[in-house]
Amino acid sequence: MVGGGLVGLTSALVLRHHDVAVTVVEKRSTTSPQPKARRFHVRSMEVFRELGLADLVHRAARDLAGHDRMAAGRTLVEAELLPPWRPAGAGGAVVDVSPEEPCLIAQDALEPVLRDAAVAAGATVRFDTELVAFAQDEDEVVAELLDRGSGERSRLRARHVVAADGARSPVREALGIGRSGHGPIGEPNVNVYFHADLGAVVDGREFNLCQIEHPDAPGALASVDGRRRWVFMGPGDSTDRDWPTVLRTALGVAAPDLVVRSVLPWRAEMLVADRYSRGRVHLAGDSAHVMPPFAASGANTGIADAHNLGWKLAAVLRGRAAPALLDSYDAERRPAGWFAADQSSRRTQGLRTLATAPDPTLAHPFVLAAGGFQYAEGALVHGPEGLDDPEPVTAFEPAGRVGTRIPHRWLDRDRTRSTIDLAGPGWALLTGTGTPVGAPGPSGLAVHRHDVDFLPAGELLLIRPDHVVAWRGTDPAAAAAAFVGLLDGRHAAPEPAGA
Ligand SMILES: Cc1cc2nc3c(=O)[nH]c(=O)nc-3n(C[C@H](O)[C@H](O)[C@H](O)COP(=O)(O)OP(=O)(O)OC[C@H]3O[C@@H](n4cnc5c(N)ncnc54)[C@H](O)[C@@H]3O)c2cc1C
Repeated sequence: MVGGGLVGLTSALVLRHHDVAVTVVEKRSTTSPQPKARRFHVRSMEVFRELGLADLVHRAARDLAGHDRMAAGRTLVEAELLPPWRPAGAGGAVVDVSPEEPCLIAQDALEPVLRDAAVAAGATVRFDTELVAFAQDEDEVVAELLDRGSGERSRLRARHVVAADGARSPVREALGIGRSGHGPIGEPNVNVYFHADLGAVVDGREFNLCQIEHPDAPGALASVDGRRRWVFMGPGDSTDRDWPTVLRTALGVAAPDLVVRSVLPWRAEMLVADRYSRGRVHLAGDSAHVMPPFAASGANTGIADAHNLGWKLAAVLRGRAAPALLDSYDAERRPAGWFAADQSSRRTQGLRTLATAPDPTLAHPFVLAAGGFQYAEGALVHGPEGLDDPEPVTAFEPAGRVGTRIPHRWLDRDRTRSTIDLAGPGWALLTGTGTPVGAPGPSGLAVHRHDVDFLPAGELLLIRPDHVVAWRGTDPAAAAAAFVGLLDGRHAAPEPAGA
């Protein structure tokens, strides 16, 4: 694993969950010093749930619990909370989207949790260690590492490398993989991370983001811990302004203890790698896609990459699947990355609009939040029975279609076990209590019997370890054949052009 950021650490956790030996190398000496991403959608929390980490993450997020609202005003002091807006499902119904709540937690608070968990799960995590070169052949990748503390160089041999090395991705560059997309989006911005005790100022008006409309200090204020840590995001490309004065104007209070911690110029971009794998090296996270932060999808899309790639690498490394299964990583995650990046690029309205009336021509917010992108090809078996029709995007109507995450339904009265929990790290076959499943299926495929509204009597769903429906039909023998065929590569997507 190259990169011990959010995606590298999640990839390591997913691989350990599948009992794969993993080494993470990270050139920095600490986890992210910047708060960066703060909103983790339900789909990411479902991944953490599978890894046994959801409660830990929610506990680490307690500072921002209840800070989910948007606010707006001329200054922070004058700002008012905007009305809460909760998207509905089909026909305006209130829907139970996920067994998990979304989570507001700053990336610099989340990464230490993931790092500790990865170490506890048995990953070798080496910070202060930079990948400086690598070479691959048919059997392995040989990585040249630099210990930035001692200056010593060493070699590490690996069967595969996941490059979670960020937007500039030296690994992607070395592989000669280009990127396509809309390029820069909107105007340059500056993020000013500062400390100031504003607990009393925001008391009773706790928010996630507050739009500041003061003509001399326009921008948005993001809560990092809801009390002392804040990020002000303003337009412009100048980093050497008198930031304490600008911030005090935006706040509308003297804030005598205000200290600017860092000033980070950035420009939103939408770029997606032209391929996600070359040989034994696979891109994940920002190395594969960068997108504007307006849909809070960058980190979440990276977590989904890690979840998708992890079970496939594990199946191949443990000899359970043919290497061709790995081709489905690009076939599935590259279109998903493009979808998330494109949707993020198109969400550029102000907070007032976002909080009250999202554009109905865009993907439904739950579709983004619940990983509702439907894979069209990949490690999937499309049936002849027309049960794998396209999933809508502008409405949230999950129905267990092939290529989508299984819809969430509670399986017990106490609401402890969800359909999401049926698969991962193993495969699952879900069917109703009255449906015959015939002879015992292949080993590694657990049969679960539950009557759920999206599965008519007599139908079966084959669910992959990443909770995605791989096949749907009525013939148990066809389900078993689909499972075996997917692992032996018969249904894998073609290797991308230019291999
Ligand atoms: C200001 C800001 C706000 C954001 N807000 C949101 C948000 O609200 N929601 C959201 O989902 N996303 C948001 N994002 C995006 C999110 O932070 C990224 O998508 C996320 O950090 C990607 O994680 P990553 O692990 O892929 O990459 P990174 O976090 O960039 O980590 C890559 C790691 O690789 C290491 N590395 C690089 N090269 C090497 C090498 N040769 N050897 C060893 N290590 C190496 C780097 O040191 C780094 O630690 C935001 C980003 C920024 C900058």
